[in-house]
Formats: sequence, C-alpha cells, structure tokens
Amino acid sequence: MTEILYMPSIESNYIREWEATVVSHGEDWVELDRSAFYPEGGGQPSDTGCLEWPGGRTRVKMVTKKDGIKHFLDGPVPEGAVHCLLDWEKRYGHMRMHTAQHIVSGVVFDRFGARTVGNQLYHDRSRIDFHPIKFTDEQIAIIENEANEIIGRDLDVQIKQELRTDLEKRVNEERCNLDLIPKSVNNLRVIEVAGFDVCPCAGTHVRNTMELGKVHVLGCESKGKDRCRLTYELV
Ligand SMILES: [Zn+2]
Repeated sequence: MTEILYMPSIESNYIREWEATVVSHGEDWVELDRSAFYPEGGGQPSDTGCLEWPGGRTRVKMVTKKDGIKHFLDGPVPEGAVHCLLDWEKRYGHMRMHTAQHIVSGVVFDRFGARTVGNQLYHDRSRIDFHPIKFTDEQIAIIENEANEIIGRDLDVQIKQELRTDLEKRVNEERCNLDLIPKSVNNLRVIEVAGFDVCPCAGTHVRNTMELGKVHVLGCESKGKDRCRLTYELV
C-alpha cells in the first residue's frame, strides 16, 4: 500500500518534492512506498512530474489508482530510493480549480436547489454539471457574484477525518453528495471551507479561499433534460 502524502492535512496538499522508495514495478510503471502524485479520478486529471536518482531522471506521465497507485514512466527506474517532484504549476491549478468547485457547487445548491452531478477540471478551466436546472443569464450572474463574495471572505480550508454518523448530523447529504458514498464507508475525509462548506472529498485543495482569485463563468450549455454544464476559469 502506498502512503498517500496529500491526504492527512491541508498543509500536506502543498508537498511538491519528497523522497520515496520504489516498491514494485512493471514494464513502464512503478509503485512507491509514499507518493503525493494525484491519480486520475473524480474529475481531476493525473499529476505529472519527475523521478530522480543519482545520475538519472525520468518523467512521470500518468498516475492511476487501479490495483494500487501506479506511476507510468517515460523510461526505466532503478530499484531503491528516488527523489520525486510534481509539476507544481499544473497541480496548484488543479487545487485552485477544485476548491473553487466546492464554492460554486455550494452556491448553486443553496440558491437554486440543483445538485452537482459531474465535473471535470483542468489547471486553466473547469466545468460542472448541475441537475435539475436550466440557468438563465441572470442566475449565472448571481452564481458568479455570490461565489466571489464567499471567496473574498478570506476563508480557511481544513481537512479532517470524521465518522459518517457524525457528519450526517451536520450536513445536507444532497448538498455534499454524501448520499452517493457507499453506506459501508464509515471513516470519511472531510473538507471544510470555514462557515460555508462541509463535504466528504478525496481531492486536493488550497488552504485559503484568497488563493483562488475570482470565478469567471465562461459559459453554460444544455446537457440534456434539466441538466446544465457551467464552464469557468479563475482570474
Ligand atoms: Zn474537494
């Protein structure tokens, strides 16, 4: 099992270099004893970066989480210790976009009662699918204004472990999609944007909303009956 370095605290989301040991490998991949590479999933792309060792270096092109955290490489890596580096600009973009998604999703639920039913983020723009809703231009302006007002409150973001039974008492399960997590999962990693959002989530986040800048909605398109896709950037 790989120790996932960005899990335990918000500060751990900022780990961008670390030492690790190769514990198993295939033709074009390795598993590490500890890793901060985010594996593709949940609408967030895989991290990329490098593994280095004395006299050598290779690119990490893609990371997946099927059957363990596998780092797919450009070339072979020797057994033993490696120094790991994330492509930080891209990862930090994902952290900002994903934290902004928590805010936009919360605003849309609170104002219009629509749930987040899908999302795909990139470092420079992202999209969220909502249901049931067909946004008007006026509603889009409200979403943008309210999201930016909340971001401007200078809110800290925290990560904690919480029992499902405790979380159920203090959240709306539809607002944070808790009802979509299998009932068998009892220990949850919970992201809290102070005073605004409490949400079980395994993604990567920034430590304060002031790191987000401003949400700028780029567009809205229909994705079927009562389903709408909002695309945004951060400026
Ligand atoms: Zn999250």
